[in-house]
Amino acid sequence: CGIIGYIGTKQTQNILTSGLEKLEYRGYDSVGIAVHDGESVHVRKTEGRLDGLEEKVGQDPLAGTVGIGHTRWATHGRPSNENSHPHTDAQNEFAVVHNGIIENYMEIKKELIEKGYTFISETDSEVVSHLFSHVFNGDMIAAIQEVVKKLEGAYALGIVSKHEPDKLYAVRQASPLIIGAGENENLISSDIPAVLEYTRDVYILEDGEMAVMTEDDITLLETNTGNQINRDLFQVDWDM
Ligand code: GLU
Repeated sequence: CGIIGYIGTKQTQNILTSGLEKLEYRGYDSVGIAVHDGESVHVRKTEGRLDGLEEKVGQDPLAGTVGIGHTRWATHGRPSNENSHPHTDAQNEFAVVHNGIIENYMEIKKELIEKGYTFISETDSEVVSHLFSHVFNGDMIAAIQEVVKKLEGAYALGIVSKHEPDKLYAVRQASPLIIGAGENENLISSDIPAVLEYTRDVYILEDGEMAVMTEDDITLLETNTGNQINRDLFQVDWDM
């Protein structure tokens, strides 16, 4: 129900949890984050409230300057630790947060199970992380294009890959997603207030678009064609 993501020079764990706090008003039943520590991607997630997650990361913190976070409003699969986002593939190569509904997930899930993939959750979202594992061939943009071709429904996605410790990816189709363009840091979020602490310069991602971010660059692309999009930054001139 809410997505946050960060790439920059700061430690991201607390940026993600405080971003999730700002998305709380949207309502949620579970919460989680994934952080890339430069070597691999680590996930902490839980059914329930943000303080449950804060307790987990308090006991077992995540180091790293790239990450994604999620508040879930369950549509497919009850609220549980397993069904919470982020979702990963079996090798922990891809971590994905998803808002929306993948309408054809049963079909995709069946195909992936036949190919030997094992699912941990009951969600529609988990097909996305396994699809990445299935189609990835070294090129993340091509992988996103392949994955998106298979998806029907509504999705805002935040993605981090073990293979790319200095990249953050976002995709939008029929679920809201904005990009915050900061100084040596960039963010993704379901809405503007969650990034205002860091920047007032935002891009509003449109349906059929994706974003590739490093700490000091944002590239917007048409998801299907890969064509680059030139868009002016939107300057937020209001306060919370
Ligand atoms: N359909 C997904 C799920 O049930 C995402 C729900 C959401 O947008 O929070 O896990």
